[in-house]
Order: sequence, then C-alpha cells, then structure tokens
Amino acid sequence: MAVPKRKTTPSKRNMRRSHHALSPAAFQECPNCGELKRPHNMCDACGHYNGREIIAPED
Ligand SMILES: [Zn+2]
Repeated sequence: MAVPKRKTTPSKRNMRRSHHALSPAAFQECPNCGELKRPHNMCDACGHYNGREIIAPED
C-alpha cells in the first residue's frame, strides 16, 4: 500500500480544505403566491410551476 512519506502540514491541509465551504441554499419568490421556493422546483405552497398548477394545494 502506498503511504505518505511526510505528515501533511497545517498549511497544505488548510489549502486543501479551502474548497470545502458550503454555500447557502438559493430561494426565489413564487410568481403565483409570493412564497419562497427553490429555483427549478415546484412551489411547495401553491403547487405551481412554470405558470401552471401541477398539483392542487392541500387544504
Ligand atoms: Zn406558489
């Protein structure tokens, strides 16, 4: 099995981890009801997507 010859320095370890940050989830207002929804996803509140009703909202 290949084994690293040297311990990774804190600098190299932190450089590797510089790409690990998570970005916050994107939200936009639903054009139908104004509720916040994820882009490219049906609105959870009113069941609309792309200008038409996909499913009827519950109660
Ligand atoms: Zn909506």
